[in-house]
Amino acid sequence: MTIKKLPDNVIKLIAAGEVIDSFTAVVRELVENSLDAKASRIVISLYPDSWSLRVADNGEGMTENDLLMAIQPHTTSKITSTDDLTKIQTLGFRGEALHSIAQLANLNITSRVKDSCGWQIITTNTQVIKSYPKAIAVGTMINVSDLFGNIPLRRQVNPCFKKQLKSIQNLIAELALCHPLLTWQLLVDDRLILAISGNNSVKKIFPQLLKTVKYSDLEERQVKIKTPNQNHLSTLNLVVGMPDRISRPRNDWVKIGVNGRVIKCQELESAIYSSFHRTLERDRYPLIFLHLQTSPRQIDWNRHPAKAEIYLDNIEFWQENIKENIEKIFRLTDNNLSTKFENKRVENIFKVSENKAVYNLELPQKIEQNQNYFGLINLQVIAQARNTYIIAEHSEGIWLIEQHIAHERILYEQLKNQWEIVTIETPLILSKLLPKQLDNLATLSLEIDCFGEDLWAIRSIPKMLLHREDCLEALIELSWGGDLDTAQVAIACRSAIRNGKKLTISQMENIVNEWKMTKNPHTCPHGRPIYLSLEESSLYRFFRRHWVLGKSHGIQEISNS
Ligand code: ADP
Ligand code: MG
Repeated sequence: MTIKKLPDNVIKLIAAGEVIDSFTAVVRELVENSLDAKASRIVISLYPDSWSLRVADNGEGMTENDLLMAIQPHTTSKITSTDDLTKIQTLGFRGEALHSIAQLANLNITSRVKDSCGWQIITTNTQVIKSYPKAIAVGTMINVSDLFGNIPLRRQVNPCFKKQLKSIQNLIAELALCHPLLTWQLLVDDRLILAISGNNSVKKIFPQLLKTVKYSDLEERQVKIKTPNQNHLSTLNLVVGMPDRISRPRNDWVKIGVNGRVIKCQELESAIYSSFHRTLERDRYPLIFLHLQTSPRQIDWNRHPAKAEIYLDNIEFWQENIKENIEKIFRLTDNNLSTKFENKRVENIFKVSENKAVYNLELPQKIEQNQNYFGLINLQVIAQARNTYIIAEHSEGIWLIEQHIAHERILYEQLKNQWEIVTIETPLILSKLLPKQLDNLATLSLEIDCFGEDLWAIRSIPKMLLHREDCLEALIELSWGGDLDTAQVAIACRSAIRNGKKLTISQMENIVNEWKMTKNPHTCPHGRPIYLSLEESSLYRFFRRHWVLGKSHGIQEISNS
């Protein structure tokens, strides 16, 4: 589509564009243009000392005429009328960025469209000073030099380059997750800083962005959802760091993308946090990327000049869908375990003795088992070890499940679902309670009366404590505790089967079956992992089973000699 000047009525409806105030802002505008031009490869080169940068792409390119139009104010090829504002499919639409950058720097733009020759323009202060044919592959290369040369103050207020580089890396990371097929390179003074090769699975992008993340730490889920009141299917793509395998010290990797751009959306973030509630250790945060691709009519981008915040229609509908789908990812189904994850510790054990060669594994046939209604994994309890671990077998390997924390997870979720306070016939008497303790017990809706000097009668208690011998201790513990949730965790922990207790096979089966059905079976409410997986494929490698099957196998040679 050719570039045109926007009519005045459209210009008035567009919120003021982002101020170009930093390297990052320039890079953002240029790479978003590359993405809109359907590039599959983008190379960004930064030269901080000379306040210069270059963005090169292999997108559709621009003709000579388009090049000359592109640097004029309010010129765009992406929308033409007010109606188009309601169905924006591109990242840009305001037609302001190139013009603004041309006001703040010298530009040298070379571009070529398919079946035409390339063209180059050189501009100073938005004036084209040279324009001539130039040989170039299809695509666009924009050189920005002497950025803010005419506004020295803006250079002074710019944060140090190290900080800017971080925000540029973050920007690229976010765009790479939203557009996983793209290949990216970031260079500083011609030195490669970041390289991302495109892949159709977002899961494969993560380990390229964060060294600490392994492919097997993640689960991915993509679902098509009917958009409310629309004849349109939206796509929700979730990549979730499993809580027993990975978490972050800061909330820097809860990212939400909507139609190709990472945005801030408090409402969707809170849906994510509520799904991760009580799955991670204290002060740890989830790692998750969520990308919602929906009809442009559902989104109003005009909430924020940098399009960093949006208004999204049917927000509660999307919140519910996000929670539901994260819950499905947490479920212990065969599908979710298809990546054959190896717990980090187990993997380290294996690494010690593992050969570097790639083995052609012939995996044992899957044990055919009936799946239950939810498609949950079939676990066969076979034994108890050290009166602590339930050993369970399934089609892909063996799991060790820690009995106490598996049970704690079950009880915690039961308490969450049905918190019940029951009246007791004989009140329990507590003494020497401080006002703060009394307040805490009252917050939990327990009935408490003064029973004499420094004595209190507790007339109702949480149902789960009803027949427990340690009920008094539990109540004292609760009186020191914080909110209802903390109390529920404390009661679950106290009531759960202790480690060291011998269990029968049927008792263990009950625990395993109930645990499988929990919403968050991976970690206990304190964030400890509940099970350790020993996948058959890893055991196969560890025990070098291929040696026996191979033609020149060592074992036979040894026994022959
Ligand atoms: P907008 O992106 O809002 O349309 P810009 O000022 O960023 O406005 O760009 C103006 C126009 O220049 C775009 O509409 C597009 O047609 C063209 N353009 C800019 N960068 C590129 C590029 N890398 N490849 C192809 N066309 C481009
Ligand atoms: Mg643009």
